[in-house]
Amino acid sequence: MIIGVPKEIKSDEYRVAMLPVGVEELTRRGHKVVIEAGAGMGSGLLDEDYLAAGAELLSSPAEVFAQADMIVKVKEPQKAEWELMRPGQVVFTYFHFAADQELTEAVLASGATAVAYETLADSEGRLPLLTPMSEVAGRMSVQEGAKYLERPQMGRGILLGGVPGVAPAHITVLGGGIVGANAARIAAGFQANVAILDINLDRLRYLDDVMPANVDCLYSDRHTIRKQLQRADLVIGAVLIPGAKAPRLVEEEDLKLMQPGSVIIDVAIDQGGCIATSRPTSHAEPTYMVHDVLHYCVTNMPGAVGRTSTFALCNATLRWVLEIADRGIEEAASKFRPVASAINMHGGKVTNLAVAETFHLEY
Ligand code: NAD
Repeated sequence: MIIGVPKEIKSDEYRVAMLPVGVEELTRRGHKVVIEAGAGMGSGLLDEDYLAAGAELLSSPAEVFAQADMIVKVKEPQKAEWELMRPGQVVFTYFHFAADQELTEAVLASGATAVAYETLADSEGRLPLLTPMSEVAGRMSVQEGAKYLERPQMGRGILLGGVPGVAPAHITVLGGGIVGANAARIAAGFQANVAILDINLDRLRYLDDVMPANVDCLYSDRHTIRKQLQRADLVIGAVLIPGAKAPRLVEEEDLKLMQPGSVIIDVAIDQGGCIATSRPTSHAEPTYMVHDVLHYCVTNMPGAVGRTSTFALCNATLRWVLEIADRGIEEAASKFRPVASAINMHGGKVTNLAVAETFHLEY
């Protein structure tokens, strides 16, 4: 099979969908990899590394799409890429169709087989190609929070870990899933005081078992949230109700409970956010102030740490790229349920119920 890797063209996107080691594995199995020149640059991966691993470099996305039986990407195809896809071509990437009707119609019209990272589910119903990005965003949320608590960034001027004789920061993490647990662990490592809140008692029991002593695991209700806001220097929003808009846990008037200069990092912003005053921001202008509380609501946080994110993503996707390349999409889907669960469109038809229902399309 010929596997094509174009350079990502969405703004602020520095990831690439394949590492040189992926090229090496594919070529060793008899496949051919064509990659657009400069595709890895945003992640510090050089064309020479891909060449040495056995890839062929092409100078334009049009050539990559024209040659490839399977395109492997990171972000959903952008408008300029829509006309490059063709019937029967496998496109393996994040699509997030339900959020974009125009994209859904364009990919459907192209006749390509859309294999979506975000719906690839394992036997336990987990989404292993979303997990690495939640891990990145969770860990990064503390790093960003630490930065914006600094006075020159309009924060309170607080060091997360304090120093001997001065109390550390208090960090409240709303939601104890992948993002929340990663945030809490990193915050604890900074020696901050941490509270992590969830409504799932089993999850709280688990977190209570594995978290260090400076992390309190609390049940998430309105009373506890409001008490936490009074103490918190940094609030991290990390809740998710799968397939739904994020629940709103903090109202605008609640912000008045917080100290001026405290910081909110609403990681859940890609699902609408869990703070009433959250609105999507970008890496170019990540923050804004409401009632003296600094808000950071970047929708694609992992993009800023492209190199780490590229490695984390490719570690998770390569196994499936290899299966699809070796067997073809139909055999891979009949042998592996995760592959079948990832196919959102095939043969000009929508094959994912949620996408079909969202836009009233034939299923
Ligand atoms: P997850 O499913 O692993 O965890 C979500 C947790 O929220 C669950 O434990 C759930 O019990 C809990 N929860 C639900 N309702 C709650 C409530 N009322 N109070 C407290 N907890 C509640 O999800 P995740 O992978 O950790 O992702 C969290 C969010 O972060 C998602 O919206 C995801 O899309 C988003 N995300 C954003 C970025 C970004 O760049 N902004 C990157 C990755 C993930």
